[in-house]
Amino acid sequence: MIRSKQIQRPQLVLVVDDHEINRDAIGVILEDDYEVIYAENGKEALELINTHVDALSLVLLDLMMPIMTGFEVLDIVQHDERLKSIPIIVLTADKSAELEALQMGAADFITKPFDMPEVILARVGRIIELSEGRALINAAEHDRMTMLYSRNFFFEYASRLYHYHPELRFDAVVINIEQFHSINALNGREFGNEVLRTLGDEIRCFLAETDGIASRIEADRFEIYCAKQPDYRAMLARFQERVNRISPKVKIQLRMGVKPWKEGVDPVLLFDRARTACNLVRGDFQNPLMIYDEELRHKELMNQRLLNDLLTATVEQHFRVYYQPKYNIKCNPPRLSSAEALIRWDHPELGLISPAKFVPLFEGNGLIGIVDSYVWQEAARQVAEWKEKYDFVLPVSVNISRSDVFDPTLEERLISLVEDNRLEYENIKLEVTESAYTDNAKHVLDVIGRLRGLGFEIEMDDFGSGYSSLNMLSDMPFDVLKMDMKFIRNIENSETDRRLVSLILDIARYLDVKVVAEGVETEGQLEILKNGSCDLVQGYYFSRPLPPEEFEKLIEREIELASLRKE
Ligand code: C2E
Ligand code: MG
Ligand code: MG
Repeated sequence: MIRSKQIQRPQLVLVVDDHEINRDAIGVILEDDYEVIYAENGKEALELINTHVDALSLVLLDLMMPIMTGFEVLDIVQHDERLKSIPIIVLTADKSAELEALQMGAADFITKPFDMPEVILARVGRIIELSEGRALINAAEHDRMTMLYSRNFFFEYASRLYHYHPELRFDAVVINIEQFHSINALNGREFGNEVLRTLGDEIRCFLAETDGIASRIEADRFEIYCAKQPDYRAMLARFQERVNRISPKVKIQLRMGVKPWKEGVDPVLLFDRARTACNLVRGDFQNPLMIYDEELRHKELMNQRLLNDLLTATVEQHFRVYYQPKYNIKCNPPRLSSAEALIRWDHPELGLISPAKFVPLFEGNGLIGIVDSYVWQEAARQVAEWKEKYDFVLPVSVNISRSDVFDPTLEERLISLVEDNRLEYENIKLEVTESAYTDNAKHVLDVIGRLRGLGFEIEMDDFGSGYSSLNMLSDMPFDVLKMDMKFIRNIENSETDRRLVSLILDIARYLDVKVVAEGVETEGQLEILKNGSCDLVQGYYFSRPLPPEEFEKLIEREIELASLRKE
């Protein structure tokens, strides 16, 4: 069998001594196992070390030599990043020099005169083996791109610092690059690598000034375990300023999450939280720094709780559907024209929870489909019940989430909703938020277009909060535009807002769609909208969202008014 060692080239050893007799003596011992090269003084040795830096396994170095001594060589090699990993064994007859050489970085020493060849061979072999092992560890220990610690070593060292140096009280800092994949895709991988290296360099500069360690955990995620900083905004600004200098053409935006030290919280958990904080400011160019505090912790715990409780809530029916009326203000008095179904979570321990607390959470992971399904079913059942009970059809609109639009069974589900409850398509309206339209335009337009073709009335929700341009709007399939609440809030006091609202009403006329104004709370707001010939109004002015039993009073009054009109 051929051992792998035998098929490799022999390892290269440099022997440095000003006496030929010494060089020969060592040469004879080593030549069977190693490839040996020789130098007569320190200067020659340095030249050879530099030429063979990648191949050299070991240097045997005499200390006392003319031109340049072994001490000088040791000193230069130890201070050169490229050379310092080459192990050096010093050759000396002077006992007192051994300690000094070891302190200067020598790996071992061999005493002159050379007596036992086996001992010398064993020492040489052992030092080479140790140094190769060390090189392997070094390669695994560091990320090649940035020379920061690799993930596993980082956490190992962080954990040791935490356990053996509790007095350090280090904070966890996570830094990410916004849209790093786009930076790569648009400017090439080499550019992306340069960004990573630059950030890595700056982090190493930072750590030269502050106690701590750092890692490029993966891709564009950097984690720093360091002494508490007086100003994290300034720390982020420093890194941001450095990456800004990479290219005037490419905008590179960093974001940062920090979890300050806390008694009894180990680095793994500390970094989990710092990561959460960092994720929360994703895409937030105004405020790219988040420090994880108690408030955030409670929010996270709450989110976790809601996620855990979702299944129970559906099985045990903790969800309630409330209805908020929309009034047609073109009639006098305004006429009840439809309602919006809005979800509430009647949690057995936490009480009534607003959708603002859980809808965005479930939208983020697709679970909103479960909630929406329930609301649609319940709303359709309710419309049918009222139709039966009052002989009065009150169309109800339901909210369609972004992720619903990507559900291939969406059309099927909505069709059976109408059929199973023996309703007409126009009895159910669909509210699709404006931002869903702009997300993945073609697919969304197709799906919504088909639903509209079936006879569902489509309302574009939160209009004005997204970024649809006018020419996009004219291609989008919808029947009603729901003006975002923020436009209404200040119309009584702000001339600008009044003009914006009137502009939206003009756009709607131009597109030949109706307008619902949401969030109308006062008589004054209502008057302005009436004068601007807005069609429908939804808001606390008429009614808050109500449970079905209470909503029935509005239906009953409407029926009464209708019969009065007939008389
Ligand atoms: P949205 O669809 O824009 O619903 C209108 C929100 O405005 C409702 O909040 C409603 O209670 C509130 N509102 C109505 N009139 C006024 C007013 O005069 N003043 C003020 N300040 N607020 C008013 P709610 O019920 O808390 O719902 C918030 C959001 O949660 C909804 O916004 C919608 O995006 C989402 N949501 C609610 N129910 C569902 C659902 O079943 N499915 C999905 N996917 N999302 C839902
Ligand atoms: Mg809505
Ligand atoms: Mg809305």
